[in-house]
Amino acid sequence: MNLVEPGRFYVLPQLRFGYEALAPFMSEEQLRIHHSKHHQAYVNGANSILQRLDKARKENLELDIKSTLKELSFNIGGHLLHSLFWGNLAPPGEGGGRPGGVLGDYIEREFGSFERFQREFSQASMSVEGSGWGALTLCRQTGRPIIMQIEKHNVNVYPMFRILMVLDVFEHAYYIDYKNDRAKFVDAFWKIVNWEEVNKRLEEALK
Ligand code: MN
Repeated sequence: MNLVEPGRFYVLPQLRFGYEALAPFMSEEQLRIHHSKHHQAYVNGANSILQRLDKARKENLELDIKSTLKELSFNIGGHLLHSLFWGNLAPPGEGGGRPGGVLGDYIEREFGSFERFQREFSQASMSVEGSGWGALTLCRQTGRPIIMQIEKHNVNVYPMFRILMVLDVFEHAYYIDYKNDRAKFVDAFWKIVNWEEVNKRLEEALK
C-alpha cells in the first residue's frame, strides 16, 4: 500500500498579497477578518471533525454520521472555495479588465460576449439565496464553461466540474466595506479579478 501522507489536516493558505493590496475595492480590515477569522474557522471546523472521526474510530464510539458528514462537507467546502477565491483575486491594476487567452475565447464562444458573461455571472452571484458563491466552472464532457450558483459552501455543486473562478457572496465577505449592499461588492469584484489565474486554471483543466 502506498498511502499518501501529507499533514493529514487542513492548513490556512497564505495570501499572495498583503491585506491592504486589494483596497479600495476590498479594505485591509475586511480582507484580514475574512481570511484570518472566517476562512480559519472553516479550516479549524474541518480539522476538528476529522479529529472527532479519528477518535470515534479508534475508541469505537457511536457517531451521528449524517450530521457529521453534513458538517464536514460544509467546512471542507468553505476551506476549498476560500482557497480558490484568494487565488483568483489580484490587486487593482494587475486584476480587472477583460480576460484574454483561451479563457477569452471560451467565454466569447459560450456567452456570445464578455459583457453577456459578466451580466450572467453577476446575476448568479447577486441572487444566491442566503449565503453562497458565484462560480465559473468547466464541464469537461461538453467543453462548456458553465456558471454554478453554490448555496452555503456545498449545495448545487456539479460533481467533477473544474472550478475556474469563484466569488464569495456570504455577507461576511463584504459587510465591513459595503454593509448589506451585495450588488456593490459584486461590481467591485470585477476590478480585482485575476484573469491570468482563471485562464491558467482553464488551461490546466483542458489538459
Ligand atoms: Mn467567505
